[in-house]
Amino acid sequence: MADIIQLLPDHVANQIAAGEVVQRPASVVKELLENAIDAQATEIKLLLKDAGKTLVQVIDNGVGMSVTDARFSFERHATSKIKAANDLFQLRTKGFRGEALASIAAIAHVELKTKQETDQVGTHIVIAGSTVESQEAVVTPTGTSVAVKNLFFNIPARRNFLKSNAVELRHIIDEFHRVALAHPGIQFSMYHNGSESFNLPESNFRQRIVNIFGSKTNEKLVPVNETTEVLTISGFVGKPEYAKKTRGEQFFFVNNRFIKSAYLNHAINAAFEGLLKDGAHASYFLDLTVNPETIDINIHPTKTEIKFDDEHTLYAILRSAVKHSLGQFSIAPVLDFDR
Ligand code: ADP
Ligand code: MG
Repeated sequence: MADIIQLLPDHVANQIAAGEVVQRPASVVKELLENAIDAQATEIKLLLKDAGKTLVQVIDNGVGMSVTDARFSFERHATSKIKAANDLFQLRTKGFRGEALASIAAIAHVELKTKQETDQVGTHIVIAGSTVESQEAVVTPTGTSVAVKNLFFNIPARRNFLKSNAVELRHIIDEFHRVALAHPGIQFSMYHNGSESFNLPESNFRQRIVNIFGSKTNEKLVPVNETTEVLTISGFVGKPEYAKKTRGEQFFFVNNRFIKSAYLNHAINAAFEGLLKDGAHASYFLDLTVNPETIDINIHPTKTEIKFDDEHTLYAILRSAVKHSLGQFSIAPVLDFDR
């Protein structure tokens, strides 16, 4: 029998990887914003057209890339963030898989402009469907601009699967909120079809929450602070009397990364037990800091689910910290006289 196994060409492998990393314009937003943060930007601008279907562009004032790195950044598994497997257990960056730019360039038209502080001119790369169309010198400020146009132009099935602009924009705003809340010290702005949607100045966590969700939010927040050997918690929960039937704002950040965790969410619900009216949902904005060696972020390509070494302890600490804070603000149980 003849041998039949072949290695897939890079552009095919990239397109397959893209299927996991890029579901919709919001996924591109997340990856580009995270790259800007990893590049130590202090100011990040997000520009969108047609809810990201036509354009997602992120402009940062971070460290930029050299001419060679700029080209190399589109290769699969090309990353400046880890060097060895061990580094996976002490991650300090958002990225580490070296897959995002390669994946995005496989399924969109991408234009990159970047310059490092020490360089006079920057470099400008145009790439589509993994094929580099041009790279030339360009005058551009220090930092990086990545423009992603016509997402899924070469995968009609994927493009048709995208939802209405309103729905896709909602997903983008959710990602934008998550990243902006995780990094209140960074200035973020967002523009859709030429008009400003958000302009968030550098601030602290509380102020960032208020800037995003409105000034009325301020009086609803109860601070939660707890430091133990395994976990530091800082942030806020919403006062129970403001809880609504619609799912409130619920955010966990672990080491500055937004994560979803049904288990930890349950811990919060347990802390609120007896305080919420039937069917109402607690709001929370909680920053958890743990030793990076005690979590595994590499269980899902989008990194929104992580694995904790000792979930049960975290659950117990979280529940008691939130309970304590609610108690300190002397919140009486809801008296439902209608019953
Ligand atoms: P990862 O973030 O996992 O390393 P990416 O494909 O997102 O993989 O990016 C590849 C590399 O390109 C990064 O490791 C980084 O060196 C470089 N890079 C990407 N975006 C930026 C940016 N905005 N500023 C500076 N360097 C960047
Ligand atoms: Mg990245």
